[in-house]
Amino acid sequence: MKKVSILVPCYNEEQSLPLLYPELQSLMQSQPGYEWEVLYVNDGSKDNTLQIIKSQRANDKHMNYVNLSRNFGKENAMLAGFDYVTGDCVVIMDADLQDPPSLIPEMLRYWEEGYKDVYAKRANRGKESWLRKKFSLLFYRILDHTTRFDVLQNVGDFRLLDRQCIHALTKLRESERYTKGLFCWIGYSKKEIIFDRGDRVAGESNWNFSSLFNLAIEGITSFTTAPLRFASVFGFVVAFIAFCFMVFYGVKTLVFGDEARGFTTLIVVTLFMGGVQLLTIGILGEYIGRIFNETKKRPTYLASEYNDEEVM
Ligand code: UDP
Ligand code: MG
Repeated sequence: MKKVSILVPCYNEEQSLPLLYPELQSLMQSQPGYEWEVLYVNDGSKDNTLQIIKSQRANDKHMNYVNLSRNFGKENAMLAGFDYVTGDCVVIMDADLQDPPSLIPEMLRYWEEGYKDVYAKRANRGKESWLRKKFSLLFYRILDHTTRFDVLQNVGDFRLLDRQCIHALTKLRESERYTKGLFCWIGYSKKEIIFDRGDRVAGESNWNFSSLFNLAIEGITSFTTAPLRFASVFGFVVAFIAFCFMVFYGVKTLVFGDEARGFTTLIVVTLFMGGVQLLTIGILGEYIGRIFNETKKRPTYLASEYNDEEVM
């Protein structure tokens, strides 16, 4: 019998987990043709999430968990999950029921047809501000134009992955993880399902505008060096314009003499050049920061417990 794992990263989900459990149970009962496993990754929750997971496991041995030693973030929690799942495929879903479990049987059908990565695409982006929408569009544009692989828009982490994909993902151990990009990077045959993403059933989202902005920078800097190219081209263009000005003013001074005016021009040009330099140094810095973090080769997460046993 094929085994299906459901991977649920959890951070402060004490309110959602009791609601998620019956949904998972009815899903498992509706698909008796598979062996099931649920793997919770407790990402250093500060509330009673771990106790709730443990009590679920006490009643139902389908429920497994990995407890991380602190909060490592969802991207790292997912990697921990990939390391510990035992199924022939894994379905990644959020604890807050924003990813409807009712879609999973359809995913399984496509998996049986041979697709390795069945991902759910949001039909709408839900409640979002205008600015956030524009930023997200810009972000996808940049990534799409500068990478070699297809970058999927409006696709989250809710998806079914074959063992082959899980294996590939566990090989990618970079510490600055942008998993949505990694799913695209690994390739394999993909299939799309469209769904309506609802709002959280309980608790609060852990994302705000600045953490999303950081994730976007993460995505860009870990998948493309286009900003570095942009810095060189921009520098070249500015230097070229400066050269034209130099010729123009040089000739003008020779022909008409020096009139010792132009304080405004001088200050504008100085400030502009300073700005351009800071901007390009900043871009360089972003990449150097990533190099610094990667060269330390620290493990991406530390687990303290797997199914009531201590992890060494
Ligand atoms: N999550 C996590 N670690 C974190 C933040 C979030 O494991 O540091 C989990 C969270 O418990 C949830 C999923 O990641 O299951 C998605 O989080 P959230 O609902 O806050 O994000 P959103 O749905 O708003 O994108
Ligand atoms: Mg959510």
